[in-house]
Amino acid sequence: MQRKQFLAYLGLLPFVNFAMKLNAFTSVSKEFKSTPSMPVLFLGHGSPMNAIEENEFVAGFRKLAEQIERPNAILCISAHWETNGTCVTAMPQPKTIHDFGGFPKALFDVQYPAPGSPELAEELSKAVLSQHIALDHSWGLDHGAWSVIKHLYPKADVPVVQLSLDVKMTAQQHYNLACELAYLRTKGVLIVGSGNMVHNLGRVAWDRLNDIGFAFDWALEASEKMKRCIVDQNHAPLIDFRKQGSAFDLAIPTPEHYLPLLYVMAMQSKTDQVSLFNDKAVAGALTMTSVVIGA
Ligand code: ZN
Repeated sequence: MQRKQFLAYLGLLPFVNFAMKLNAFTSVSKEFKSTPSMPVLFLGHGSPMNAIEENEFVAGFRKLAEQIERPNAILCISAHWETNGTCVTAMPQPKTIHDFGGFPKALFDVQYPAPGSPELAEELSKAVLSQHIALDHSWGLDHGAWSVIKHLYPKADVPVVQLSLDVKMTAQQHYNLACELAYLRTKGVLIVGSGNMVHNLGRVAWDRLNDIGFAFDWALEASEKMKRCIVDQNHAPLIDFRKQGSAFDLAIPTPEHYLPLLYVMAMQSKTDQVSLFNDKAVAGALTMTSVVIGA
């Protein structure tokens, strides 16, 4: 009798398949040495112009980078990469994607030539057991990633991998996927969610674009409630964001800029400190509020 037939006879085959997958994962992860737990960041990216302007938000990103250990690699969950199924960028040299229109040439001229990490992409795809993570060779770094990471690491010398947002997944499924990835914190990987907690372009006060601190009442209400949940480690209402009333509905008309926050919150352990920075609204309907977990 073959070993496989024998195990099937004993009813152990599902367990063996699972164990084989775990073993494969262990052998790959040896290449990523264990480190003290890295912080996890949610960065409010706002206008793409923040990539090239000097302002208080950019200063906040730079100051943050001085306060945290240099990572081995960055895993970025950006609002600007939505797919069917979850993908991870697996190319050695991701291209800089200028995924916007109507901005000055200087913004289109920006290149952020950070290397990728095919090793991390493969590691991640093997570590996630609940679903298939596709290795992607066509995306790159979108502005949700490079417009903020360039301020943290201007030399572009830390490898960056992006994870996409599967449009078919529920908020709870996104949160659960992030839980499976939390172990990367102890592999020297800096996990960055890039979006905006309050993000309603249809309600932006375009005549007050540079009005820092100006928030409509609903934006302020949603922002305050989100921050209270974050600081209190009360994640259930954040996951259940569609049942939090009209202020949340206006703050999150579509989920892509909000969901990266759920990835970050899911990676919080009970003992992690939480701090906020860049905690200001812009143009009434956006907030730049950013979160640091565990630093
Ligand atoms: Zn955006």
